Amino acid sequence: MPLIVQKYGGTSVGNPERIANVANRVVKGWRDGNRMVVVLSAMAGETDRLINLGKELSDDPDPRELDVLLATGEQVTVSLFSMFLKSQGIPATSLLSHQARIYTNQAYGRARIVGIDTARIREELKKGRIVIVAGFQGVDEVGNITTLGRGGSDTTAVAIAAALKADLCEIYTDVEGVFTTDPRVCPKARKLDRISYDEMLEMASLGAKVLEIRSVGFAKRYDVPLCVRSSFTDRPGTLVTKEDKDMEDILVSGVAFSKNDARVTLTRLPDRPGIASRIFNTIGDANIVVDMIIQNTSIDGFTDLTFTVPKGDLKKTLELIGPLTREINADQIHSDENIAKISIVGVGMRNNAGVASRMFSTLAAQNINIMMISTSEIKISCVIEDKYTELAVRELHDAFGLEVARPRGTLT
Ligand code: ASP
Ligand code: MG
Repeated sequence: MPLIVQKYGGTSVGNPERIANVANRVVKGWRDGNRMVVVLSAMAGETDRLINLGKELSDDPDPRELDVLLATGEQVTVSLFSMFLKSQGIPATSLLSHQARIYTNQAYGRARIVGIDTARIREELKKGRIVIVAGFQGVDEVGNITTLGRGGSDTTAVAIAAALKADLCEIYTDVEGVFTTDPRVCPKARKLDRISYDEMLEMASLGAKVLEIRSVGFAKRYDVPLCVRSSFTDRPGTLVTKEDKDMEDILVSGVAFSKNDARVTLTRLPDRPGIASRIFNTIGDANIVVDMIIQNTSIDGFTDLTFTVPKGDLKKTLELIGPLTREINADQIHSDENIAKISIVGVGMRNNAGVASRMFSTLAAQNINIMMISTSEIKISCVIEDKYTELAVRELHDAFGLEVARPRGTLT
């Protein structure tokens, strides 16, 4: 009997009517002869509401108690869901994290799953029941409740699918799948039928919000076939899967963008061993995640260093490196919040020259200045002025012909 894990996001279970609607979809899968495990998020907006409640009583809520609070959101949806199924005469049971035995470390608010003991889930399935598991929550080795971080239900679903060796993991959301870019920015955006794990990882880290990035890493590591689709239609969605030959024939699969970062430049740093290490150790020790880093070769014993940090961490970064740059005799610190990062992603660019130059000439044709460039095997990112974001996305989408599916893409 095939085993399917389905995850429904907050909007899909946002009210009783929607819960009943998606429950019927689950029942259909079950009647078709599949074993069904369902992972649920909290109702849309609920996790935010709970966070705000906590803040009303404490400026800095205790992390352990905050996780106890946040985990209630998913407890509500799994119980309602299971209650509805039972009222229809369908065998079902809800399981919270300690019952489903989803074990994590003790990093409250951003816990990592360290293992799942599937015995209880299997036992319930064997009884013919539909198993409804609370997403986003786990339990540490001494029984404390933890949560996995925002959007963490995707990771719960993929981890359970991996542990159960499920035949398919379907992530149901309010969009129809993974698009070539954000359809709100580019009306020509097209839903992709398939995308490779690596491309999806890049797209997710570059700002495409359809899947939580950790879940994609999990899916890749354990080879879980992942399908992203809408709970509001019956259309097939996007399959996130292992790379194959056909995918390589497509040069660029998507355009991603993000306005979350700020740029910091240090000019005329002395060019000697240990400078970069001091700067980035200081920033890293404050738990600030640096994204792009560019250092010039020095001409006269001095060099410039530019990097990006999340906008929310800019102030702190400047406070930290201010004294440091004086100490090491850097000339000046500049920073800029009005930037955006635009990226093109595609496994096909690995074996094809000319993709970067096409990207640069597309931006040049619109008179858009490129401030920073970084590349990986399957991605090219440019930092530009943020007011050009939408224009750049649309132009790149056109330049790489993304509105039409091209099984055999070429640069012409
Ligand atoms: N309810 C959690 C959140 O809003 C987890 C999830 O929905 O995936 O982040
Ligand atoms: Mg989500």
